[in-house]
Amino acid sequence: MRFSRYFLPLLRDDPKEAEITSHRLMLRAGLIRQASAGIYSWLPLGFKVLHKIEQIVREEQDRAGALELLMPTIQSAELWKESGRYEAYGKEMLRISDRHEREMLYGPTNEELITAIFRDAVKSYKDLPRILYHIQWKFRDEIRPRFGVMRGREFLMKDSYSFDLTVDDARKSYNKMFVSYLRTFARMGLKSIPMVAETGPIGGNLSHEFIILADTGESEVHCHRDLIALEPPGADIDYDGDLSPIVEAFTSKYAATEEKHEAERFLKEVREEDRVTARGIEVGHIFFFGTKYSESMGARVQGPDGELITVQMGSYGIGVSRLVGAIIEASHDEAGIIWPKSVAPFDLGLINVKVGDPATDKACEDLYARLEAAGLSVLFDDRDERAGAKFAAMDLIGLPFQLVVGPKGLASGEVELKERATGARHSLTFDSAFNRLLASQAETKRQAS
Ligand code: ATP
Ligand code: MG
Repeated sequence: MRFSRYFLPLLRDDPKEAEITSHRLMLRAGLIRQASAGIYSWLPLGFKVLHKIEQIVREEQDRAGALELLMPTIQSAELWKESGRYEAYGKEMLRISDRHEREMLYGPTNEELITAIFRDAVKSYKDLPRILYHIQWKFRDEIRPRFGVMRGREFLMKDSYSFDLTVDDARKSYNKMFVSYLRTFARMGLKSIPMVAETGPIGGNLSHEFIILADTGESEVHCHRDLIALEPPGADIDYDGDLSPIVEAFTSKYAATEEKHEAERFLKEVREEDRVTARGIEVGHIFFFGTKYSESMGARVQGPDGELITVQMGSYGIGVSRLVGAIIEASHDEAGIIWPKSVAPFDLGLINVKVGDPATDKACEDLYARLEAAGLSVLFDDRDERAGAKFAAMDLIGLPFQLVVGPKGLASGEVELKERATGARHSLTFDSAFNRLLASQAETKRQAS
């Protein structure tokens, strides 16, 4: 993509409304614009990142055996009356009426709708277990939308729902989602910590929040330092095998918790020198809630002996749009964003430091064509701007690599390759710069498979 033809409105100054780094950087780097309080438009660069995050979430759900579908954003109030949540949900729910005065709502979550789909379609235990998910916009009329996309009113969420015959089976589904979450966040370069959680209005009695560490996080985390060191499983994980040892390693042995219920136990069980207290951002939340919805909404299947059995359910959310902000909170410096390679909007930036110099222009055009032909995505800064402004823009946008081409280097057949994360710069021949970029791309692909 040529910068000169892209739609990338950068801001030189810090926007007044932004209280935290990610919000400031998302506005400055041209990722989002506010449409109204807590509601955002995603500009081309931000939309690319959102897509990449969504795709990683999707791949890891699919790997765990979950099946993707798509439910609508607008729901009928009827189902929510069946479950009893229409009144209970309160002011966070955006209620709408259609031209026939029928009560509708913009979905804040989808337990009711998926339970209705399931109960109408599945009649036999033979069709269990199933995990269904979708990635869809949600609306919650948050009392205090803030921090940009981190606490929006409209936000993109991945929500999965599991259906099982027995509590034991439901626990297996829960473990699948638990393990897939560890992998999902690790692929985005994030260290996630599963924390015992309260179940809130969704109900139930087994729940974990997945927290990533960042100083500006809204949640307080107490955890054993060994938990931070634990490595999530690799891509060769067998989701049909016994996942409980992995889940146990991340839970029972090392308490990780927020306040009251659990904090006291943590203080008792974990020695002072092993304790880490930090701030974190909740990026995922998983619940087992048994028959809470299947009972009230009549989701039953015929068991092996012909008897009717109420199904056991769980639900599993990931804040896809929140993750864009959360990744920036976890990965930035003074100059701007530092995208992990797996979610970067382009693989690299190509900077022509002397537009108009025929040799430099030609070298850039050649490199640009060659890099794109090799499958690398390039943001080519071909604008007639000061070199300093171009470097600053590229640092702000935060692509993993910058390839800098100017007359001085070209005289000795070299270009400069800068790694955004470390700031390391190397003068290299075209070929070796090219090979390094290809090797990095291959490594990112390897981690994904
Ligand atoms: P929170 O405590 O932050 O309000 P929640 O417990 O209400 O979150 P869930 O209902 O579990 O959230 O939703 C699943 C995920 O959706 C959360 O883990 C979070 O990542 C994301 N999420 C929830 N509310 C918002 C929001 N207002 N803006 C952006 N993402 C959100
Ligand atoms: Mg909430």
